[in-house]
Amino acid sequence: MGTHKSIIIVGGGISGLTSANSLAMRGHAPLVLEKGATCGGLVNSFLRDGFLFDGGIRAIENAGMVKPMLKELEIDLPLLESKVSLGVEDKIISADNKESLALYEQLLKELYPQSSRDVEKVIKVIAKFDVYMQVLFGSDSPFFKDASRDTRYYFTTFPLWIIRFLATSIAVMRMQIPMEKFLSTIIKNDSLRDIISQHFFKKTPAFFAMSYFSLYPDYYYPKGGVGSIPKALQDRLSELGSEVRVNAEVVKLDVLNKLLVDINGNEYTYDALIWCADMKSLYNKVSPLGFSEEVQKEIVKEQEAILASRGAESVFTLFLAVDLPSEYFRGISEGHFFYTPKKEGLGETHRSKLSHMIDNWQALNREDFYAWLKEFCLLNTYEISIPVLNDSSTAPEGKSGLIVSFLFDYELTKKIEEAGWYDEFNTHISDYMIETLMEAVYPKLKENILFSFTASPLSIAREVGSSEGAIVGWSFEQKVPISAGMLNMKKAVRTPIPDVYRAGQWTVSPAGLPTCIMTARMAADVVHGKLT
Ligand SMILES: Cc1cc2nc3c(=O)[nH]c(=O)nc-3n(C[C@H](O)[C@H](O)[C@H](O)COP(=O)(O)OP(=O)(O)OC[C@H]3O[C@@H](n4cnc5c(N)ncnc54)[C@H](O)[C@@H]3O)c2cc1C
Repeated sequence: MGTHKSIIIVGGGISGLTSANSLAMRGHAPLVLEKGATCGGLVNSFLRDGFLFDGGIRAIENAGMVKPMLKELEIDLPLLESKVSLGVEDKIISADNKESLALYEQLLKELYPQSSRDVEKVIKVIAKFDVYMQVLFGSDSPFFKDASRDTRYYFTTFPLWIIRFLATSIAVMRMQIPMEKFLSTIIKNDSLRDIISQHFFKKTPAFFAMSYFSLYPDYYYPKGGVGSIPKALQDRLSELGSEVRVNAEVVKLDVLNKLLVDINGNEYTYDALIWCADMKSLYNKVSPLGFSEEVQKEIVKEQEAILASRGAESVFTLFLAVDLPSEYFRGISEGHFFYTPKKEGLGETHRSKLSHMIDNWQALNREDFYAWLKEFCLLNTYEISIPVLNDSSTAPEGKSGLIVSFLFDYELTKKIEEAGWYDEFNTHISDYMIETLMEAVYPKLKENILFSFTASPLSIAREVGSSEGAIVGWSFEQKVPISAGMLNMKKAVRTPIPDVYRAGQWTVSPAGLPTCIMTARMAADVVHGKLT
C-alpha cells in the first residue's frame, strides 16, 4: 500500500500531526516541518517551577472526533473530566449536564428580572441548537471508521447518519447571521445581550454562539495537560517511521518546482505538500509564474483574497502560580470557568470606545488608556482554567496554577508595543485582572500569588506564526477569503496551487479543534488517493 512519493507537511500543530499520522498509518512516510522547538502549536502545555500550564486551548472538545481519532491510532491517553462552570457576579452554576440549561435560565432571570421573557426566548433557541449538536457531534464521527473492517456499519448506520448530518447542517447554516444581530431581535436589554455573547468573537455566526452551550459537557482534559495530545501524536508518528523536524520553519517555497527551503537552509522536494499553518504565510511565499494561464488566474484570485483578509480575534492571558490548595478553588467553581464579575456587560468599552482609541492613538494620553483598560478588565468575561481541578499532578502539593484570559485586540497590542508601553501595560493589566477577580470571586488571591507571567496577541503571532495572533483562523468581521463552510470541507482542503493542499484552522470557518482534525483527515485522504 505504501508509496515512495514524498509528502511534506508544514506545521506540527494538531492539524499537521493528525494529517501525518493518518498518512503514516496507510504506509506513507510524511515529513513534518515545524517552526517551533516543540510541536502542538495552539495545543500546548509547559512546565514552570513545578506548575503545568496550558498555553493555547484550555481543554479539548471531543465532538465525536478526538476519542475516535486516538482510538484509531491506538493511543491510550486518559481523557479526564473537564467540567465547566458559568458565573456572573456571585451566581455560579455548573454547566456539565442536561439540566444545566434550566440553571442558566434561572441565573439570567435572577440577574435581569425585567427581561424574563427575553431570557426564555434565548433559552429556547439554545435548547433547539442542543438537539442539532447532538445530531452533528453527539456520536462518534464515521471519519474514523475503517470501511473495510466495518462494512455493516457502512451499509446500515452510515447512510442514516449522513442524511441526518446534511439536513441538520443545512438547518444550522441558515443561522449564519452575526450573533449580535440575531440577539438584538430577541433581547432588548443591552447588558443581558452582552453577558450572553461578550466572550465570543465579534460577529460570530449565530449558530456557532447558540450551539456553544451544548459543547460544555463535551470538554475533556488530557492527563498531563492538553499538550499530551500532540506529544502522543508525535510519538505515534515516530513509531510508524515518520519524521518530525522541529526548529525547521519553512521560509521559501517554489511551487512550480515543488521545492521548499527551511530556516536552516535545508532544501526539500515534494510530490504533495499539506500546508497546516497560517494561510497568509503560505501565499506570501507563492509565485504563480510558470503555470498555465488558467491556474495562474486561480492562484492570484485566492492569493489576493487571502492576503487582504484578517485573522480572528486574539487573547490576553495571565498565568498565575498560587499558594492556595485546589480545595479553595473547588469550593467556587469547576476547573474550566467562564466568569463575568459585573452584570453590566462591556457595552461600548470594546466597541466604539476601543475603535476610537485605536483610530486616535497619537492623541491618546496614558492615563486615559489605563482608565479604559481598568474598565475593560472590570466588565469583561474571563475564561479561567484551573488544571489542578482536573488533574492533581499539574501543580505542587497544596498549590494551584490558574490560566486567566479574555479576548484582546491585536492592533491595540501592537500600538502599545510601538509606543514603548508593553512592559508597563503588562504590569497594569495583570494588576487590574487580579484586583477584579480578588474583589469579585477569589478574596484570597492577591496575597497568595507566588509568581505570574503573561502572553499577549503578539506572543501568539510570534510563536505559532498566526496572523493577527488569531486563535481560530479567519475573522468573522469580514468575508472569509476561501469557500470554507461546514458542507464543503473536502473541497476546501484543495488549493488552486498544483499538489498543494491545506488543513487546519485556516481551511474552514468557523474553525476549532474538531474541524482542524476533520480537515486534516480529509487532506490526508485526498493526498493518499492522489498518490496511490
Ligand atoms: C486560548 C485558546 C483557546 C482556544 N479554545 C478553543 C476551544 O475552546 N475550542 C476549540 O475548538 N478551539 C479552541 N482554540 C483553537 C484551537 O486550539 C486551534 O484552532 C487549533 O489548535 C489550531 O490548530 P492548527 O494545527 O490548525 O494550527 P496551529 O496550532 O496554529 O499550528 C500551526 C503550526 O505550524 C507551525 N508553523 C507556522 N508557520 C510555519 C512555517 N512557516 N514552517 C513550519 N511550521 C510553521 C506553528 O509553529 C504551529 O505549530 C483555542 C485556541 C487558543 C489559543
